[in-house]
Amino acid sequence: MAASSSPGGSIYLDHAAATPLRPDVDEAMREAARTAFANASSPHAAGRLARRTLEEARERILAALGARTSGPRRDRLVFTSGATESNRLAVLGRSGPAGIVAWSARDHASVTTAARHLVRHGWRGVELRLADDGGTAAARADLVATLPSSGPPAVLCVTTACGQTGTLDLPDEAVATDPRIALHVDHTQAVAWLPRPIRDLHAATLTVAAHKLGGPRGIGGLVIRTDAALEPLQPGPQELGLRGGTEAVPLASGFAVAVEAVVAERAAAAARVVGLRRRFEDGVAAAAATAGLRALIVGAAAPRAPHVATIALEGVERQTLVMAADLAGVCLATGTACASGSSEPAAAVEALDLPAWVARAAWRASLGSTTTAAEVDEAVRRLAVVFQGLAGHGLQRVADSR
Ligand code: PLP
Repeated sequence: MAASSSPGGSIYLDHAAATPLRPDVDEAMREAARTAFANASSPHAAGRLARRTLEEARERILAALGARTSGPRRDRLVFTSGATESNRLAVLGRSGPAGIVAWSARDHASVTTAARHLVRHGWRGVELRLADDGGTAAARADLVATLPSSGPPAVLCVTTACGQTGTLDLPDEAVATDPRIALHVDHTQAVAWLPRPIRDLHAATLTVAAHKLGGPRGIGGLVIRTDAALEPLQPGPQELGLRGGTEAVPLASGFAVAVEAVVAERAAAAARVVGLRRRFEDGVAAAAATAGLRALIVGAAAPRAPHVATIALEGVERQTLVMAADLAGVCLATGTACASGSSEPAAAVEALDLPAWVARAAWRASLGSTTTAAEVDEAVRRLAVVFQGLAGHGLQRVADSR
């Protein structure tokens, strides 16, 4: 078995939670830490070098993402600690009078909890229903049809690639450019896979995170259109006054290298990983059938980001499966990493029109640019043994699976 990127002999299929650090990113961060260690706000030569390094990283990220880099509505980039903070700044940082905020179950908890916080403070909340394809296009159209012609723009949250199911939901241009809408796009899971410049998404604010792209943990970004009015959650002079605190220059350098690399590689990587996911899903379905278990692939018929496979085995509780897989040497997840210790089913699966057992049973495998066919085959082989064990012993099977 020629499996690689396998911590402790385990096969790592949790790239949607965090990706291994790219060697070129590691090198860039070491170099920046050696040369641009000063405080980027210090006025002396060392500080100016750190500032230059930081601003270069910012420009490179915006250019690689395909942001609007000129004109009155050009994009700016505020560095944050990751996607959670970016989402919260975009939603909670909305200044001006209370208006309408819309979100859906496919959004990450950092979006949904922020939106619900606004609702508790006088905003009108609209939870968009998910269609069978896991998207919100129809619900968004319904929302737009009821929007008042005056008042503050409605904050509409759209997650391009769902972190739980990988299903895609791209904002349509007519809705995104409607002056009554302030569109917030969570692009965290899509950047590495979707070959599309972000300017085509027409977002007022857009979230990215480095650790989903082979970049370092601890840095993300919020792309902000010049006319989008935000207040800081953590005031301070840095980052356009929207995020106080000394900037992490080496992390920003690594982030820039990671974004440039994934953008250059993503069309080829997406094609390769779609093939690996098919191999994995086919292998899992066959192994489940051999064990006498019924497998359902969530979103199989929907447009999906290439790297995520969300699978439910009827009668097998998801945490049991993920723990047994871990013991067998396969790293899987029950949902997004921050909720994976939770006993709650993944909201994006629960909101779909599927039998109740699916949400209780659904687990996620996510592949990455370092995943190999040998790893997929070995993971399937190990999971086949797990399935046999679970089917044979009836271990913690969901009693009422209907
Ligand atoms: N948004 C999406 C779509 C995600 O999948 C995740 C994490 O998995 C986040 C936000 C939160 O990311 P972070 O861990 O960078 O805070």
